[in-house]
Amino acid sequence: MPELPEVEVVRRGLEQWVAGRTVASVEVHHPRAVRRHLEGSEHFVAALTGRTLTAAHRRGKYLWLPVAEPDGAEAGRALVAHLGMSGQLLVEKRTQPDETHLRARFTFTDGGRELRFVDQRTFGGLAVEESGADGGIPPRLAHIAIDPLDDAFDVDAFTAALRRRRTEVKRALLDQTLIGGVGNIYADEALWRARLHGARPTDKLTRGQVADLLDGVRDVLGEALAQGGTSFDSLYVDVNGQSGYFSRFLAVYGQSDRPCPRCGTPIRRESFMNRSSYSCPQCQPRPRARRA
Ligand SMILES: [Zn+2]
Repeated sequence: MPELPEVEVVRRGLEQWVAGRTVASVEVHHPRAVRRHLEGSEHFVAALTGRTLTAAHRRGKYLWLPVAEPDGAEAGRALVAHLGMSGQLLVEKRTQPDETHLRARFTFTDGGRELRFVDQRTFGGLAVEESGADGGIPPRLAHIAIDPLDDAFDVDAFTAALRRRRTEVKRALLDQTLIGGVGNIYADEALWRARLHGARPTDKLTRGQVADLLDGVRDVLGEALAQGGTSFDSLYVDVNGQSGYFSRFLAVYGQSDRPCPRCGTPIRRESFMNRSSYSCPQCQPRPRARRA
C-alpha cells in the first residue's frame, strides 16, 4: 500500500505535470473508480470537462486538485484522489498503450501528456467534492491530522495530545486523527530509531522520548521521500508501494531473524492488530505489563 512518502512523490509529480492544465476529456473505464462521486460517473465527467486543475495538495494519503471554471474563477470544488492499496496516477504520452487496469483517463486541451488512473484492486478512487475557500482542504478530509512532512505540523500540540492518550505508542502512531500518514512500516522504523517498543504506554513517555520518536518519524519519512524522489522519473508520476526504499533501507520491518543494524540482535516479529510488528528485542525492550 502506498504510504505517505509515496503519496507526496505523486503530489509533487501532479503539481509539476498537471497543475494549471485544462481538462479536454474524461473517460471512466470502471464505475468503482468513481464510486465516491455519489452523483455518478456522467456527473463526474461533466464536473471536470473544460475545467482547469489549478494545483495539487495533500492531506495524509488524500490528494486534492482544486478546480477552476472556464473563466478562471474558483469552482469551489476539487478533484480528490485516494490511491487505496494499488492505485497509480500516471502522466503519459497519448501514444502509450493502455494499462490493463486503466480506470480513468484525462486528456488536456494543450494536447500534451494525459493523466491516467490505474488501479488493479480498485480500492482507490476519484471524486469531485466541495473544497474549502480558495481551493482549501475539502471538508471531508479536514479531520485528518497534518503529518510531519507538512510545514504546519505542530510539535507541541502533538506531544501534548500523545501524552494525554492512554494507549500504546504504536497504536497512537497509526491513529490518523493524532498524526497523519504513518502506516505500519514507517511506525516500526520510527519506533526502532527511537528505541521504543510499540506497546509502551503513551502517557508514560517523557518529552525527550516523544521528541526522539518524532525525529524518527521525520527521518524515516524524509529518507523515503528522498528515495522516491531519486527513483522518480519526472515524466512518470508513479506510486506502487514497491519502491527501492522498501527493500533496501528498512532496519526492522520485514526483517525477522536478520541482525539489528545497531546491535546485531535478531529482529523479532510479533502479531499486532491482525498484522505484524517488527522490533529489536535488545534496543526496544517490551514494557512491563501495566498494573491494573
Ligand atoms: Zn538492536
